[in-house]
Amino acid sequence: MGKTISIVNQKGGVGKTTTAVNLAAALGLQKQRVLMVDIDPQGNCTSGFGIEKQNLETSSYEVLIDQEPARNAILTTKFKNVDVLPASMDLAGAELELVDIHGRHARLKQALAAVKDDYDFILLDCPPSLGLITLNALTASDTFLVPIQCEYYALEGLSQLLNTVKTIKRLYNPDIELEGVVLTMFDNRLNLTQQVVAEVKKYFPNKVFETAIPRNVRLSEAPSFGMPVLYYDRGSKGSMAYIALAREVIKKNR
Ligand code: ATP
Ligand code: MG
Repeated sequence: MGKTISIVNQKGGVGKTTTAVNLAAALGLQKQRVLMVDIDPQGNCTSGFGIEKQNLETSSYEVLIDQEPARNAILTTKFKNVDVLPASMDLAGAELELVDIHGRHARLKQALAAVKDDYDFILLDCPPSLGLITLNALTASDTFLVPIQCEYYALEGLSQLLNTVKTIKRLYNPDIELEGVVLTMFDNRLNLTQQVVAEVKKYFPNKVFETAIPRNVRLSEAPSFGMPVLYYDRGSKGSMAYIALAREVIKKNR
């Protein structure tokens, strides 16, 4: 059964998508069958895998709103062991359309149940909000993984995220757990970074991954070539970091 992990932080630009794309690719290269689900209307994850958002016939929008079977929207990729359930711009409307749907919180969970057995890991790239799409992701997930950018106010908003998870745990998904916290855009040369790391570790005892993702220009270049960094520059620090993170995730879930 595929372990389903939401990659979530309602703060924008902290490295959710970069982590989703490259963790998926790294898991795939380590012989794990991965489904990457893009549920962010920005569709950055979709384009990060070189998929054209404009020409999609079916996407996560149809899966959420029209109950289109997930299998009909899933695309295979040229990246080893990685399939993608892409997002299109239509998804921007889903937040509002879901409001009137009975059982709205469980739409994604139902859809993914049909394909869970086909994968070892299902990763969900969440939008930067705690709206109904993120609610669907957390309801569908076994765990959630939180990327935190090493900067001032890194912890800001996290209590809101954890309260949201607590509510979802109580109402819809009693078994959801924190997979871990991953520090992103890490730069050890800065004093600030060390302070932030110490704070985050204090806030999440034993839950911070040993691997921190360094600030690495290759990570920001790769998406414009429509590929994960592991295929764009395999020897880069960014690649090494996501390979190490994938190794930790696999080890934890063995
Ligand atoms: P959003 O909330 O908008 O979905 P996000 O949390 O998914 O954003 P990303 O899109 O992954 O964040 O990253 C934000 C920006 O920072 C992107 O331009 C990305 O290329 C860059 N970036 C992310 N991680 C790194 C890194 N480790 N090194 C350098 N640049 C990075
Ligand atoms: Mg993103």
